[in-house]
Amino acid sequence: MNRVKVCIGMCGENSSRWKGELAKKNAIHMYLKRHYLMPEYCEICGERKKLYLSYKHHPQPYTRDIKDYQWVCARCHMIFDGRLQMFKGRRHTEETKRKMSLNNKRTMLGKHQSEEARRKMSIAHKGKPSHRKGKHGMLSQETLRKMSEAQTGRKHSEETKQKMRETQRKRFGGVYNERC
Ligand SMILES: [Zn+2]
Repeated sequence: MNRVKVCIGMCGENSSRWKGELAKKNAIHMYLKRHYLMPEYCEICGERKKLYLSYKHHPQPYTRDIKDYQWVCARCHMIFDGRLQMFKGRRHTEETKRKMSLNNKRTMLGKHQSEEARRKMSIAHKGKPSHRKGKHGMLSQETLRKMSEAQTGRKHSEETKQKMRETQRKRFGGVYNERC
């Protein structure tokens, strides 16, 4: 399939300027890594971890002076950048979480995916492990017992049974419940 790239204002001036900035940052980082030895310990928490160069003063401009940089671990880097704080401060409230969970449950409830969607999902999931992989045996005996109890005495309606039969027939091409 031929894909035609469509410009939506990301081409030309804007993107090249951004790439230029990025290239500059990468070049400086490479320069610094070449010229200054990486210490073994994080300059903030003092832990021995994989370290990253972090610019001390935000925002830019980037300089080639190592004094403007510090070697920090990923965690301190995030805290220093304020990313972790932002993350923490942005947690969903219980109310929001409840709504989100409800929405997720409701979205597909009683609905069917279109053939197109089913086909796409099928392709996307081919060769990938089942979403149940590793999940077996995660529920406690207690939970399993409760689940079983909740189902006890519940019977499928005739309509449901008929539907189930049809599904199985479609699935196994009419050899359901028969010996091959
Ligand atoms: Zn650290």
